[in-house]
Amino acid sequence: VPTLGGPHTWGSPHLGVPTAHPSPKPPLTPRYPPTQDEEFYLVKWRGYPSSANTWEPRRNLRCRGLLQQLHADLARAPGGPVRPGPRGLPARAVSYLAQKAEQRRALRRWERHLNRTRSHRGRIAVENEVDLHGPPRDFVYVNEYKVGAGVALTPVAAGCECRDCLAEATLAGGCCPGASRNRFAYNEAGQVRIRAGLPIYECNSRCRCGAECPNRVVQRGIRYDLCIFRTGDGRGWGVRTLQRIRKNSFVMEYVGEIITSEEAERRGQVYDRQGATYLFDLDYVEDVYTVDAAHYGNISHFVNHSCDPNLQVYNVFIENLDQRLPRIALFATRPIRAGEELTFDYNMHGTCHTCTCHTCTCHTWHTPVPATPGTHLSLAHTCPYLSHTCPAQSSLPSAHPALWGRCRAQGHTWMGPDHTWGSQGHT
Ligand SMILES: [Zn+2]
Ligand SMILES: [Zn+2]
Ligand SMILES: [Zn+2]
Repeated sequence: VPTLGGPHTWGSPHLGVPTAHPSPKPPLTPRYPPTQDEEFYLVKWRGYPSSANTWEPRRNLRCRGLLQQLHADLARAPGGPVRPGPRGLPARAVSYLAQKAEQRRALRRWERHLNRTRSHRGRIAVENEVDLHGPPRDFVYVNEYKVGAGVALTPVAAGCECRDCLAEATLAGGCCPGASRNRFAYNEAGQVRIRAGLPIYECNSRCRCGAECPNRVVQRGIRYDLCIFRTGDGRGWGVRTLQRIRKNSFVMEYVGEIITSEEAERRGQVYDRQGATYLFDLDYVEDVYTVDAAHYGNISHFVNHSCDPNLQVYNVFIENLDQRLPRIALFATRPIRAGEELTFDYNMHGTCHTCTCHTCTCHTWHTPVPATPGTHLSLAHTCPYLSHTCPAQSSLPSAHPALWGRCRAQGHTWMGPDHTWGSQGHT
């Protein structure tokens, strides 16, 4: 209670802790005071031990925020909205309040840790007003790719000599994108202006231009304040923006551990459904590497899937020009209001994923990685990624690997059109 001086300034003396005869074991929680029609609150005083706690009537309390939080917690306590009875709160509600308080402390600690670890300007808030979940275990915040075994990054050998990268962008071979016959990706406000699917080549450490060059956007990192929040509809954690985001603006990169696709296959079979959805194939040219964000990742780890997303994936090349190893950047597909949840369309490989986004009619989509012959996969829907037709196979289970490879080479996650894809193939 930060606004008050301490238990002795105005606490009701007859409700206070026993002081006249200090016993070796003072009761930590004094008894709920007998009362007819007034609610009392047990107050832990800042800077005083719990043995100095006192019961106070509501009129003595000026900590409005804490009171609101307490009553919001009681409204969500197990067994419905809890009202104190003549002998105080039921034990179950008290235990829930204690868990809620411990959770808040843990989430604040995690929030401080995330903000100490981030290298980007945008701050990270953490919020769970829904359930008792604390910080995720086994998650390490990283700001950039963590390179796994068997993966080598080749540093860029050359940069541009522009005086003004944006002005020289349209010249033949101008600026960094021009060197690889690609278009300059940004306008003067740093908004992406090329269509998704085209690569972004940013200026690099060998370029003559400085940090303010308009061709340096993704490399500047996350600029918006974002909030990791617990969704209220069973989708786990999600991310919402605390600031307005303009259309086509860079929002965040998808980072994690870069592993070979063989290793991704192996991990995909080990991971549960949840873990497998963090595998993102880098299949811009060929499918050699995968980003695994299950254990190492940034805030993108918490962004949910949607079939009508407000973020769009682009392949970006900066210090590494190996086309098999693009960086994955997420840009806003439309203006996003402060408070809106951020989503992108997972184009990942995984085992089986129940689509719980509210923007589509689908129920389940899945990919056949651990294809056990005869496996029955239920309730699929038309694959949103398939623009080509794969041959339907009557003996699909045994034909998985070949068909899977073909679909994957096209960069698609695929699934059956009907109740079992084993018998009907897919279109
Ligand atoms: Zn340039
Ligand atoms: Zn350059
Ligand atoms: Zn430049």
